[in-house]
Amino acid sequence: MKFGFDIDDTLINLREHAFHLYNRKLNRDVDISLFHELDKVEIHELFGMTAEEGGKMWSGSLEEIYYTNCPPYPEAAETLQRLEKEGHEIYYITARPKEHGKRTMEWMIQNGFPVREDRFFYGMNDEDKVHIIKELELDYYFDDKPAVLETLSGRPLNVFVKNQSYNRHLNIPRINDWSELFDLLTEEK
Ligand SMILES: [Mg+2]
Repeated sequence: MKFGFDIDDTLINLREHAFHLYNRKLNRDVDISLFHELDKVEIHELFGMTAEEGGKMWSGSLEEIYYTNCPPYPEAAETLQRLEKEGHEIYYITARPKEHGKRTMEWMIQNGFPVREDRFFYGMNDEDKVHIIKELELDYYFDDKPAVLETLSGRPLNVFVKNQSYNRHLNIPRINDWSELFDLLTEEK
């Protein structure tokens, strides 16, 4: 089977990593509980920033956000390793900007994910992921973002949403923790 994965906030805990970075950089102490209640992907409002200020803060911090010690979710790398060992194909489809594609791929390898260069896609817009997913004829796809998942309804593939505070309204099969994956696949059959 062909399995496709988004990276940020699906396989790795990127927004929370950025949240802690923002607290440090801005010398703030915003409570983590507010982060866990956010109903949107962007985190700038927690720090009193406008969308424009938030966009600048995010793009100005990308180096640290992407390449420091962002933790993968528990069991994420191990689960994908096991899928690959069982003979499945693993694809990554991330909307990270083009100039960060290669380094992101290397970072994923360093963090234990099974990566093949020809199965690693990046630099597209959220709404264009659907075209790659279609061309690859994926059997399964996992993402956290409503804007992406909404483009996939009606497609002949199994879509799962990685549970996050901002996607609770989506009525799609849900994965809370990567250790659940093999049980979910069994239930699907
Ligand atoms: Mg994501």
